[in-house]
Amino acid sequence: MKQAQPLPGYLVQRYHGWKATGYAENRAWYRHLAEEGQHPRAMVISCCDSRVHVTSIFGADQGEFFIHRNIASLVPPHSPDGDHHGTSAAVEYAVTALKVAHLIVMGHSGCGGVKGCHDMCSGLAPELEEKTSYVGRWMDILRPGFERVAGIEDIAEKLGALERQAVLTSLENLMGFPFVKSAVEGGTLTLHGLWHDIGSGGLECYDPAADRFVPL
Ligand SMILES: [Zn+2]
Repeated sequence: MKQAQPLPGYLVQRYHGWKATGYAENRAWYRHLAEEGQHPRAMVISCCDSRVHVTSIFGADQGEFFIHRNIASLVPPHSPDGDHHGTSAAVEYAVTALKVAHLIVMGHSGCGGVKGCHDMCSGLAPELEEKTSYVGRWMDILRPGFERVAGIEDIAEKLGALERQAVLTSLENLMGFPFVKSAVEGGTLTLHGLWHDIGSGGLECYDPAADRFVPL
């Protein structure tokens, strides 16, 4: 692969810094992780957004979370059609092989993916309607959620509501996977929906009894 280049110097320097400190001080722990394999308690599905940092928010160590990130932390519907399904593969592995106890979907404020879905569904982003737009076709998953927030006038409020709808859509789609459904109904897996406010550091959890997101 002739197009690949050497790693930028700042990353090489940071790596050596970590190896000499973060790794060196926890060598035994890393060896333990390597020998024992991974036994994460939870899977987290969050957005690719660089500001979303679930390991910081929950003070998680290596080995604790099985993390999958994608645009707008969306889970697509169960669709066993032989195609490439990265998110569904991650969920399948976490639930059936690793047998995680919790599956957490975390949305966030100012989500560019959700804004793209809003603009696409509002007719403001024709480029996302193109069949060749990976982002557009991915955000099709949230179209039903857009319909549910259609009545909200205030744009900021509408986007916030759509960000939360993304989490709910993912939770609904998760229950469409037979292995998720049977683990949830068998009491070995719990599903959780979160929405994180980046600026204030706030975290809201979906309360199914009240059918709304409640601040923690
Ligand atoms: Zn996002």
